Amino acid sequence: MIKLNRRIAAIKHSATLAADARATEMRAAGIDVMPLAAGEPDFDTPERIKEAARRALAEGRTHYTPVSGIAELKAAICYKLKRDNGLDYDAGEVLASAGGKQAEANVINALFDEGDEVIIPTPAWVSFSAMVSLSGAQSVLVRCPEEQGFLLDPDRLARAITPQTRGIILVSPSNPTGAVYSATHLYELARVLLEANLWVMSDDVYEHIVYDGPVPHIFQIEPRLKARGIVFNSLSKAYAMTGWRIGFAAGPREAIGAAARLQSQNSGNPNSITQAAAIEALTGPQDEVGKMVEAFRARRELVVERVRGLAGFHLPNVPQGAFYAFPSINGLLGMKFRGKTISDGDTFAEIALTEAHVALVGGNDFGAPEHVRLSYATSRANLNEAFDRLESLVGRLER
Ligand code: GLU
Repeated sequence: MIKLNRRIAAIKHSATLAADARATEMRAAGIDVMPLAAGEPDFDTPERIKEAARRALAEGRTHYTPVSGIAELKAAICYKLKRDNGLDYDAGEVLASAGGKQAEANVINALFDEGDEVIIPTPAWVSFSAMVSLSGAQSVLVRCPEEQGFLLDPDRLARAITPQTRGIILVSPSNPTGAVYSATHLYELARVLLEANLWVMSDDVYEHIVYDGPVPHIFQIEPRLKARGIVFNSLSKAYAMTGWRIGFAAGPREAIGAAARLQSQNSGNPNSITQAAAIEALTGPQDEVGKMVEAFRARRELVVERVRGLAGFHLPNVPQGAFYAFPSINGLLGMKFRGKTISDGDTFAEIALTEAHVALVGGNDFGAPEHVRLSYATSRANLNEAFDRLESLVGRLER
């Protein structure tokens, strides 16, 4: 066995990317797998954005750029933050990265250290706790019960804060639950956070994929939080640009500057052609996302209805944003299929993939092992087929 770096040795592959990779491998081997694992829109990147990339290529914009992004892109990001979130930032407070994920990892690494604690309300996206551990800090997972809509209760937050707590990651709409914080709820959380003087990181990746009107921003609700606040965002979901790898962070100059120094050492600028495409995405007409949301809305209805019709599944809350359902499968725990026992969401996901050819993600790495995540960023035909297969699988389980 080779000796690895202690922190790297302790991390696993991203559960979301691993689930998607297995489904892709099986498809390549000729197996017709239903794709409910991937967290990416099934729509194509809008033509105007592709055209901007073609232009950049034709103009030979193929060289290094400033590490944190070209000036026009940073201006476009500041423009977007003002237009969509009512937040004022200038170029020195913005870092563009190869995906929201890279921006998050670099900022988390820049801000936290051994001995620090970072609060992650769960269920939460699988990579946050890995990012925090890689920085040397400790993630403090605070479970948000389904009966409370998977939302962080301000009292529970107050109880989780210790003298070592230095940050919190808030995500609305949530991946994997689709939960959305109301303005009143954010205001109550902000009161606790202001007092505790933490780094508040707001992941806004799904902000445009909402079904009941715009989501309020915590830094708009409580502007004093912005002095120790970081916005994370990505173009992956709103503009169907997952493969292009472009995202950003915005926050106080010193924090963003430190993350940019790290980026200058471990990767450098985000792709130059992607940056040109991102400017068009952020500043051009914004109507494509609305069309995607209407398609997701219809699929959400179908998914909620079909999940609620599956024996052993429980989905009390209708997801208010993003494109995931996160039902519990409590009713199936202990049941068996061909000698394999369902002991948690991960074992169910494994059986669903290998026996029913339906790819989904087990809830374990989201901090909710009795759940599974189903993405409805796929066609209605695929969704119906997937649920037919799951129904037949569940019907064949044995006690
Ligand atoms: N955020 C998406 C997901 O949860 C993309 C995959 C990832 O990077 O985790 O599936």
